[in-house]
Amino acid sequence: MKKLLEFFSVDSRIEHKNNKLKNYNYTLITIIDDVIKKRKSLHHKYDKLIEKVWVSARPLNCKTFLAKYLLTRLLRESDRVFFKAQILATKLCPKCNEYPNNLKNVHYEFSDKTH
Ligand SMILES: [Zn+2]
Repeated sequence: MKKLLEFFSVDSRIEHKNNKLKNYNYTLITIIDDVIKKRKSLHHKYDKLIEKVWVSARPLNCKTFLAKYLLTRLLRESDRVFFKAQILATKLCPKCNEYPNNLKNVHYEFSDKTH
């Protein structure tokens, strides 16, 4: 009976909320770490590709075209890594999930107002 009362007490609810936020902070660090690692490996991959273009026997204007193309792709892929992580972080955010009617808008706007 005591446990049941504790469960419904304000303190335990606050504690539960704090734990949720704490867990979310760990999740966020993991997501950020993952973003940096993925971006680092992407940059490494494109660095190798640019080196191959640079030492190739192709004409200079062709090399320039390929280098520009690779840079554009790298930037796009790198941005995608970040945006995917941002969507995931927002979906997992306990504060954003407190707005069930507004869920869709919160996820799409990445609003600072909700944090
Ligand atoms: Zn949020």
